[in-house]
Amino acid sequence: MTSIEGREVWFLTGSQGLYGEETLRRVAEQSRRIAETLDGSAELPVKVVWKPVLTDAGAIRRICLDANAADDCIGLIAWMHTFSPAKMWIAGLDALRKPLLHLHTQADVELPWATIDMDFMNLNQAAHGDREFGYIQSRLGVARKTVAGHVSDPVTTRRIGSWARAAVGRAELATLKLARFGDNMRDVAVTEGDKVEAQLRFGVSVNTYGVNDLVEAVDAASEAEVTELVKEYEDGYRLAPALRPGGERHDALRYAARIEAGLRAFLTAGGFRAFTTNFEDLGGLRQLPGLAVQRLMADGYGFGGEGDWKTSVLLRTLKAAAAGLPGGTSFMEDYTYHLEPGRELILGAHMLEVCPSIAAATPSCEVHPLGIGGREDPVRLVFDAAPGPAVVVGLADLGDRFRLVANEIDVVDPAEPLPRLPVARAVWRPRPDFRTSAEAWLAAGAPHHTVLTGALGAEHLEDLAEMLGTELVLIDGGTTIRRFTRELRWNQAYHRLAQGF
Ligand code: MN
Repeated sequence: MTSIEGREVWFLTGSQGLYGEETLRRVAEQSRRIAETLDGSAELPVKVVWKPVLTDAGAIRRICLDANAADDCIGLIAWMHTFSPAKMWIAGLDALRKPLLHLHTQADVELPWATIDMDFMNLNQAAHGDREFGYIQSRLGVARKTVAGHVSDPVTTRRIGSWARAAVGRAELATLKLARFGDNMRDVAVTEGDKVEAQLRFGVSVNTYGVNDLVEAVDAASEAEVTELVKEYEDGYRLAPALRPGGERHDALRYAARIEAGLRAFLTAGGFRAFTTNFEDLGGLRQLPGLAVQRLMADGYGFGGEGDWKTSVLLRTLKAAAAGLPGGTSFMEDYTYHLEPGRELILGAHMLEVCPSIAAATPSCEVHPLGIGGREDPVRLVFDAAPGPAVVVGLADLGDRFRLVANEIDVVDPAEPLPRLPVARAVWRPRPDFRTSAEAWLAAGAPHHTVLTGALGAEHLEDLAEMLGTELVLIDGGTTIRRFTRELRWNQAYHRLAQGF
């Protein structure tokens, strides 16, 4: 499930032939140094590959076409070290289909005040070279992120790193295959959506499989595989006594392990990295998959309940982007509220399926009845989410486009223990406050299923939305309903118009 290994970003340097060989040699040397600094930065999760300095339209077009064709290349960073007349960039930028970051920087931090002469000025002119490049990108309507600052400044590398992680997510999304077991929950509106449009815009392929195809894989799992998984559960979790070997519900645990083995085999064989289930359509499954879904999410798989493929897609994308970062990422649902004025809290959970990557401590593995679905009691992991800043993100299909809605939140410890709640949960305080957050979320038509991530922040989401050409509205500490409502109206007009461009 690794998403970052083998991925690379290409570093392009713009210049022109008229400076002569000696200057171009120094341009190459200095831009190679910038690329190496970025490559060595812990903020950048992928390799940065320096490419030879570009001085004519043919070479620029060729490198953009090569970037399109290179599966490992997830995006381009471009810096106009000197002045690169931008009509040379039209054909290349027009053909480019990979994310672009315009880095506006200079080789060294300080001006050599005492020695500066026209040779120095000739070599260090990104200050206007990059303005020429900014113009042509705007003239062509090229989506990009612009980052200004020296690469030794941690803010610069953090912002480039955010873009690179978004590009990892985008690359994952472009080749993602999702398996749905059954359709959506009957009559639910928000989990529906245009799968053809999703494949065109994002690349993800979403297809449905009969749940009994999964049952076959579950039944085919060997007793040895089941025993192996049960051992993993004993080592990894606090196992309820009834579930332990010899316990009166041990059979339920073995069947949960059988579901995991079958589900893994099915997903691996089909190359799927995301899936959905639906409790209304379980075919021959004896339990609603709980533990198996939780453990697959922890391994990086996308998941959505009740056939919610959009949230599953979003979860896999954000897990890919977050690979290696501290903080977990999970499927989530706004479930119930604490409405004490001024101290409101949201309790998020699901029937069973919350990812243990967000757990504060070792999960407890338990079996309890489930009042929905009419099957045997499902096994699940129970835990509280770790406190800290996080974001919840939802993806809605508005008919003419997709809309991402995000809310910055603070996950907190539950106010009191929850001894009778048999599911994993997260308790959070939304920013800027409950009333504004909830009213804005509802005004945006955002879904009840979300992805909760403590690993990524608003900037990652903004970068991803820009790459995908998809609307993102953010509810954060500065949100007011008045401005937010106007933003939704303006976005509506903008996106309608932009479709015609
Ligand atoms: Mn649900």
